[in-house]
Amino acid sequence: MIAKKICMVGSFAVGKTSLVKRFVESIYSEKYQTTIGVKISKKSITINDQLIKLLIWDIEGDDVFTELKANYLRGSSGILLVVDGTRPKSYDNLQRLMSPIQRVLGEVPIVLIANKVDLIQEWKMDDSFLADMAEKNMGTFVTSAKDGTNVDAAFQDLAEKMMYFD
Ligand code: GDP
Repeated sequence: MIAKKICMVGSFAVGKTSLVKRFVESIYSEKYQTTIGVKISKKSITINDQLIKLLIWDIEGDDVFTELKANYLRGSSGILLVVDGTRPKSYDNLQRLMSPIQRVLGEVPIVLIANKVDLIQEWKMDDSFLADMAEKNMGTFVTSAKDGTNVDAAFQDLAEKMMYFD
């Protein structure tokens, strides 16, 4: 079996920890639990009959991508870039999150997640933004860690891209 590291990247409170919990443990909790340092979760999935073990790194979240945090990216085969579709501030300046990724990893598969789509009334993300990202060769998914919409699909898509990329 092969193991692959992926990193969750995004501003604070966009739902990185909740997405990992939903994907790995199939649970959701309203309680806001700040990640201190880094938490590594594991889940094995099958892609084209091949079992791969995902090591999912959830990095302590705030808006500043320090040198220390950039170092956590090392060795990643793929990135889940998470924004909050109800909070434009979390994706106004995606380049700020993209540049350390590009600097540390060079070209690497990235899947963009616009999370919290269950909050329909507060949803602000427009489709043209997602289309722009798709043009940059990113997979894009609109998800909810709360009700589970598209969470497995986003992780699965990233893992597939990683398999073809290597
Ligand atoms: P992180 O800082 O990016 O790891 O964000 P968390 O996973 O800790 O989530 C931040 C807050 O947003 C918590 O209060 C979560 O319960 C909430 N949250 C996360 N995902 C969703 C979602 O899909 N829908 C809704 N409504 N709330 C969410």
